[in-house]
Amino acid sequence: MSIIIDGKQTSAVVRKEYAEEIKELAKKGIVPGLAVIIVGDDAASAIYVRNKGIACQQVGIYSEIIELPKETTQDELINRIKVLNERKDIDGILVQVPLPKHIDPKAVVASISPAKDVDAFSEVNVGKIMIGNHYFLPCTPAGIIELLKRYNIEICGKDCVVIGRSDIVGKPMAMLLMHENGTVTICHSKTRNLADITRRADILVVAMKKPRYVKADMVKEGAVVIDVGMNRDAEGKLCGDVDFDEVSKVASYITPVPGGVGPMTITMLLKNTITAAKRNHGIE
Ligand code: NAP
Repeated sequence: MSIIIDGKQTSAVVRKEYAEEIKELAKKGIVPGLAVIIVGDDAASAIYVRNKGIACQQVGIYSEIIELPKETTQDELINRIKVLNERKDIDGILVQVPLPKHIDPKAVVASISPAKDVDAFSEVNVGKIMIGNHYFLPCTPAGIIELLKRYNIEICGKDCVVIGRSDIVGKPMAMLLMHENGTVTICHSKTRNLADITRRADILVVAMKKPRYVKADMVKEGAVVIDVGMNRDAEGKLCGDVDFDEVSKVASYITPVPGGVGPMTITMLLKNTITAAKRNHGIE
């Protein structure tokens, strides 16, 4: 049986450390501030945004949730961002996706000052990650690296396989594993003989949006399996991209869904907001 990588517990430990750091910053008169913009009334997005606000409050980050109607135009949204770019009390700006169809998410991200782009989605920040000279790391992959480190799982020299090549998970994940000196293979929907590749992995990260797709016969005995997926199965139950019941019998470590990667994603957003505040105040 595998050791379960507990993202919830790890996240609680890490957030306590951040709360201490924020107390120290407060002594210097610095209160990190995060603005989260939500456009429209998507129910799932509203929950994510509320959770981000609660997480900020718990560690002592000032947060401002800006709710805009679904009719908001792209120009109106960008103008709101421009105001936030100039505000001294706001260190991080995040625009919740999905946006209404008439708004181009790329144009919106491009309007956020790179120094306040705490999701690390802008072209400047993506480029900085590529060359290993970043302000911020994208939250989900950064949370996974943090989990691996907290569980003392060595990445250096390991065969790492990432299934998925999205801009927010797969690609940056591969890049971060490579920066940690893993030997990385990226798989996608056109990859041939997927199981032959995944069975070589010492560390397998799965981000494919396919409920319980990865089975035990796709995993090497003793591999570390990180499940990024967040899906609803036919019964409406939350599940990952990995068949946890099967794969936990062969993996050495595995993340559950829920309670694995998910909690660390918001935690890394807190980290990025603290980093932004320190940079904006000339501390780093
Ligand atoms: P995405 O944009 O839909 O990307 C899915 C990737 O999987 C694509 O690159 C796709 O390949 C690949 N893929 C699909 N079917 C495949 C197959 N049969 N074999 C190999 N590769 C295949 O999804 P995403 O945004 O990266 O998200 C992935 C999952 O992570 C989702 O379930 C999402 O909800 C979850 N997620 C969780 C968190 C968290 O905090 N826990 C954060 C973000 C996302 P192509 O590129 O060829 O189409």
